[in-house]
Amino acid sequence: MDATPSFLDQMIAAGHLVPTGVDGLYGRSGMFEDVIARFEAAVTDIGKDDGAEVLRFPPAVTRKQIETSGYMKSFPQLAGTVHSFCGGDHDHALLLEKIDTGEDWTQDQVATDVALTPAACYPLYPMMAAQGALPEAGRLFDVQSYCFRHEPSTDPCRMQLFRMREYVRAGTPDQVQDFRELWIERAKSLIGQLELPFDVVPANDPFFGRAGKMMKLSQRDQGLKLEMVIPVANAQPTACLSFNYHQDHFATTWGVELADGAPAHTGCVGFGLERLALALFKHHGLDVRGWPAGVRGLLWG
Ligand code: AMP
Ligand code: ZN
Repeated sequence: MDATPSFLDQMIAAGHLVPTGVDGLYGRSGMFEDVIARFEAAVTDIGKDDGAEVLRFPPAVTRKQIETSGYMKSFPQLAGTVHSFCGGDHDHALLLEKIDTGEDWTQDQVATDVALTPAACYPLYPMMAAQGALPEAGRLFDVQSYCFRHEPSTDPCRMQLFRMREYVRAGTPDQVQDFRELWIERAKSLIGQLELPFDVVPANDPFFGRAGKMMKLSQRDQGLKLEMVIPVANAQPTACLSFNYHQDHFATTWGVELADGAPAHTGCVGFGLERLALALFKHHGLDVRGWPAGVRGLLWG
């Protein structure tokens, strides 16, 4: 019998992750949060001269946005919509009775105008479209949000609610591709200095169903998504960052235009903050005080 505790068990025993009874939904320790804060500060430092517009949205988008963006077409299995009780006294009595007797009460919940954010960059596209044509230099954003994906799992790297820090570029194809190249090099340098082993590999999003198979292949073939993978809790290394080139997909969906009226191109680099923290704890130990001097210096120096 294998008595070695899993990495999730170790993170829970150390108090870094607090289980809730639902797979992929955890509390975080102060030390875990500090690692994320320090990591984010290192990222901010790298991008400090780029002039990014810093924006923070709550971890929700409008339901309309989930509909318009095509998210339900591509990733219905991951989406989270917010439902609420909208009845009167009588319905309320029935609701409580159902909860008491263990009956399903959720059928009576009504969809609100709110859905959970699937990726930190989602709120930016309709916002940009509403603000008018892009300037010659394009636009660059710094966003961070908790994101929801319905993918319950006992893999600590696969959470249902996790944070994504992103830089998002909108402009000409050249501007967006240069941005992506720059961040791939910056990420390699940062993760190398954090003494984590990594690889950058072609990837695809988990497009749903049979129709999604073609989209996965085409995304991979065209090199539209690259991921930085790091070994963490599984035999297969885990995607901890992604470098995405959307071409004009989001721009045509929402109407984001260049100064000459042509559809803009967009791209984003996404840092999976929990995965990066988990990778650091996995490789350097469960107590940050024992981490290598160089890593400590970079994060806390
Ligand atoms: P994606 O939009 O799928 O490329 O996600 C961007 C980054 O978010 C990924 O590279 C991961 O680091 C992180 N991420 C995606 N899904 C999850 C998840 N279920 N749990 C934790 N982190 C995730
Ligand atoms: Zn993004």
